[in-house]
Amino acid sequence: MTDATKSEHTTPSHFIRHLIDQDLASGKHDGRVQTRFPPEPNGFLHIGHAKSICLNFGLAEQYSGACNLRFDDTNPEKESQEFINAIQADVNWLGFSWSGDVRYTSAYFQQIFDFALQLIRSGKAYVCSLTPEQAREYRGTLTEPGRNSPYRDRSIEDNLDLFLRMQKGEFADGSHSLRAKIDMASPNINMRDPVIYRIRNVHHHQTGDTWKVYPMYDYAHCISDALEHVTHSLCTLEFEDHRPLYDWILNNLSLDSLSAAASELGNLDSDVRYVLPQQTEFARLNINYNVMSKRKLKELVELGLVTGWDDPRMPTLSGLRRRGYTPASIRKFCDIIGMSRSESVVDVAMLEHCIREDLDENAARAMCVLRPLKVTITNFDKAAPELLQLPRHPKKEIGNREMNFGRELYIDRTDFEEVPPPGYKRLSLGEEVRLRGAYVIRCEEVIRNATGDIVELRCSMDTATLGQNPVGRKVKGVIHWVPSDTALTAEIRIYDRLFVDANPDDKALGDFKNSLNPDSLQVLTGCLVEPSLGSAQPEECFQFEREGYFCADRFDSRPGALVFNRTVSLRDSWTK
Ligand code: ATP
Ligand code: MG
Repeated sequence: MTDATKSEHTTPSHFIRHLIDQDLASGKHDGRVQTRFPPEPNGFLHIGHAKSICLNFGLAEQYSGACNLRFDDTNPEKESQEFINAIQADVNWLGFSWSGDVRYTSAYFQQIFDFALQLIRSGKAYVCSLTPEQAREYRGTLTEPGRNSPYRDRSIEDNLDLFLRMQKGEFADGSHSLRAKIDMASPNINMRDPVIYRIRNVHHHQTGDTWKVYPMYDYAHCISDALEHVTHSLCTLEFEDHRPLYDWILNNLSLDSLSAAASELGNLDSDVRYVLPQQTEFARLNINYNVMSKRKLKELVELGLVTGWDDPRMPTLSGLRRRGYTPASIRKFCDIIGMSRSESVVDVAMLEHCIREDLDENAARAMCVLRPLKVTITNFDKAAPELLQLPRHPKKEIGNREMNFGRELYIDRTDFEEVPPPGYKRLSLGEEVRLRGAYVIRCEEVIRNATGDIVELRCSMDTATLGQNPVGRKVKGVIHWVPSDTALTAEIRIYDRLFVDANPDDKALGDFKNSLNPDSLQVLTGCLVEPSLGSAQPEECFQFEREGYFCADRFDSRPGALVFNRTVSLRDSWTK
């Protein structure tokens, strides 16, 4: 991140910063702040992940610490290299860089396996041969304690032998598992002898066919944190009940062996004291009119209900990017939603507010006519069109754009009413309107085709009104326009919210897909944009005056074939 954006950080403090301040004051980690962002590469990142990214990378920046990017890749069947690449691109796009190389939990599979052997040798883990159904039955419920597995008292030798043979591929998936020996009567179900390894005879995207057993997330995660010598392991609230297990595992492994392994991996300098990581939870980000579960987002992609993970309607970072959201607007949003320990739902209007504010300040202005209607200026009497200069931004000095004003131009169909409703400020027969940055015109005649559709307006211009009001009368309305000779055609994609219900996850609505907004995308072709947009670069953002904020599509727009996506309307049209 640049110094300029860093110095803008006046974020209010929150409980996690207070915790770090306390740890720094007490010397708990000898002044170190080491965080990590641990996505599972089983989908694209969404705006919820941005909260975690801004938190973890942001804290590392603020405390001159370090943040790792670690792929928590313990479920090979659901993961892929495509997701790994997309996640890295998204983190970079948000403006963050991870410390050192990208890490993978799978790179620690040997250590994680060796630690399982250690637990077996110390009598803290056993191989269980209950079927998955039996194991579920033995686990008990929230109100009833579980029962000990009949395999719980297997000898250490038998456990070692079986576990090594599980890894050799001698057994079928699900026939045995390795479980931590904790307490089947614990009120916390996570502590009832949780499975820490399962047999999966599958290929892994990083480790190939080396492994036949794969560690469970809860077991692998705390060890990975310990191996990376993480100080603050920040995760979402649903892991609160898993924290006792996180601590149990690390406390039941030898501290010396953990620190030796961290040091062997280059994560512990000889002059640094080894301290176990501490897990702290915060509330997930939920946003109304959105779904935030990867499973549901994946379903939309796989059913073709959106064009892909980066469809501009998706709450994924790559979708928001393609929609025209800027990294700064997303970081700002993550700043202002704050950090708390109770679940809440953030209004999507807040996210939209952040991008409007950013683009109002930074996007160049331009004119785009979505539904062109020809206007002929009957009294335009110059031999050649007049070249007008319009500012690219009303407040910032970022130069001018040039527009031809000549005998023919286009305005938007919706800016003309033959019989105007009361209070109408646009163009109507016999009335005047100002063309933005140009002259006041009056509509004198309406031309129709054989079927009665309006195809042209004949107007007169008041030549004394360039940049000044007409003498003796008030013209209230201002409309946008483009010159007919130099305007460029463009495809405009008008995006709206993907869901019409504030909470698509609400069970009362049935399937979340019932809430999809049928009008979330409207494609307009044959739109006309002012000539300065001919050089619009992919992802460049504009305010199309009176229409909204738009960006040139990252993938589909190029000179000669312009495509603009509507990022957001000028004002919130959803609040009633
Ligand atoms: P799923 O959507 O399948 O539940 P996940 O969102 O937990 O998966 P991970 O890849 O495991 O996906 O998440 C990586 C990190 O991002 C985790 O630390 C997780 O807590 C955090 N995270 C995920 N979703 C949110 C969210 N909505 N708000 C804040 N942090 C989140
Ligand atoms: Mg997860």
